[in-house]
This record gives sequence, C-alpha cells and structure tokens, in this order.
Amino acid sequence: ARAQAMEVVESPSVDYADIGGLEEQTREVREAVEAPLLDPEQFETVGISPPTGVLLHGPPGTGKTMLAKAVANQTDATFIKMAGSELVQKFIGEGARLVRDLFELAAEREPAIIFIDEIDAIASKRTESKTSGDAEVQRTMMQLLSEMDGFDQRGDISIIAATNRFDMLDRAILRPGRFDRLIEVPEPNAEGRHEILKIHTGRMNLADSVDLEALAEDTEGFTGAELESLATEAGMFAIRDERTEIRREDFDEAMAKISSEESAGTPIAFY
Ligand code: ATP
Repeated sequence: ARAQAMEVVESPSVDYADIGGLEEQTREVREAVEAPLLDPEQFETVGISPPTGVLLHGPPGTGKTMLAKAVANQTDATFIKMAGSELVQKFIGEGARLVRDLFELAAEREPAIIFIDEIDAIASKRTESKTSGDAEVQRTMMQLLSEMDGFDQRGDISIIAATNRFDMLDRAILRPGRFDRLIEVPEPNAEGRHEILKIHTGRMNLADSVDLEALAEDTEGFTGAELESLATEAGMFAIRDERTEIRREDFDEAMAKISSEESAGTPIAFY
C-alpha cells in the first residue's frame, strides 16, 4: 500500500523543449540539479558543495512538475514523486516512515530525483495549536530534514520540492543544507504564453485564421495548464462540428467555456 503513495517513473518522457517560457528557470534547475549529477567533479574542483535541495515555487499549473521530470529525463534518473498532502493525510501515522521509504527507494534506484509536491503540507509555519495531527506533521518534516542532513555522502540522489504557498512555509526548511536553492516559477507572460500555445497546438491542424500571438495576448492570467486545456477544448469544438481543422471560432468558444467554468468555480465568500 505504501508504494502506491509514490509515483515512480524511469527517465520520464518530458523534455526541456516541452516547457514553454521558462528559459531562466530551466537554466537554474539544470545548474542546481543536472550539473551535480552529471559532473560532480566540477564542484569539487571549484571547492563548493552543490545545493542540497531545490525548491520550486509559484502558482499551480505553471510547469514545476514538468521541470523536475525534464531534469530526470536529461540525467537518465528515476523520478520518484510524492505529494506532501499524501504523506500526512493518506497514511495517518506513517508520514515519517514514508519519508524513510522514499529515500531508501531512491538509494536503490540511483541516479534518482525525489520530487516532493505540496511541500507546504508538511512544512508550514507552526500555529499555536499542538494537536496530535500537528505533531504527526512535525515528525514527518523532521524525518525529511534528517534524511537531507545525511545527504553528504548521498551519491546520485537529488531532491526537488514544489509549493504554491511559499508565504506559508516554515523558513527553517530553507536554511543552508536544506532547500537552499529557490527558483520561482511564475505565471507566463505574453511571450511565454505564445511559446506554450505553440507547444500545445504543435500537433493540431490550425486554420490560417488562428493567430497564436494574438491568442497569447488575450489570455493574460492563464497558466500553462490552462492554456493546454484551452487548446484541447478548441479541438473538442472542431470535433463536435465534424472538422479536423481548428479555427479561430473554436478558440473563441473554448475561451468562453473556460471563463464561464472559472467564474462558476469561484468560491462563495462567507461574511
Ligand atoms: P501543481 O502546482 O498544480 O502541481 P505544476 O506547476 O507542477 O502544478 P505541471 O504539473 O508541471 O504544473 O503542469 C501541468 C500541465 O500543464 C503540464 O502537464 C503541461 O501540459 C501544462 N503546462 C504547465 N506549464 C507549462 C509550460 N510552462 N509549458 C508547457 N506546458 C505547461
């Protein structure tokens, strides 16, 4: 049952070229994760230690998981993913044990990249309350930190974490020797949205009426994940109309559909 909490992929199929608009972030991830795995001597020669852990932070759906998978692909590493929320919610009382298993599995499968999504679930700023649930979360986090402390002789294992709630993080996990390399992954700007749209429409038969650059301008606030569903929805409208070519109006309808879904999903405020 415990193994089910982890997603394990040998050398995932995501490539840097599949990621739009994150050139700077890609460069930083390569420096912090790829270089130490592929060329550790470089760090020894220069006389510095590579970063212990990398923390990717930014809104949901912006490409954090993709970045981690792309590095695993590039380094031919096993990608081992675990969500912080699963560590503490799914297997109550087993969080610390799961963390131990995670690092054991990584050692068996090295080179490996451990990816902990939603790290905030185990590393939020402490509130005053000291309920048993809190103590369990605390133990899970202590286990993670102690695994990372024992990382000096770690061999070929890298650890990447991600969060959408950087402001809520316990700053203790950001100290040197812990998650000591921060990389912000923001919402894409117009240029980034254009790159992402090109990637996700790459296999689509677009009519000349579709202007991706204009579409990028019109989709301010969309994340990569939302742009991907925009392209998919547009394709669905073409299929409904029994066409294989995707037209501008398909994207217009897709936009309308997504916007209405978004406003329907807005939570009602309580006063
Ligand atoms: P979360 O915080 O919700 O886990 P995330 O930042 O890890 O989100 P991903 O899982 O990497 O987001 O992205 C989800 C999907 O959205 C990807 O599989 C991809 O199809 C699309 N996507 C997101 N960002 C990008 C991007 N920069 N370029 C291309 N596709 C993207």
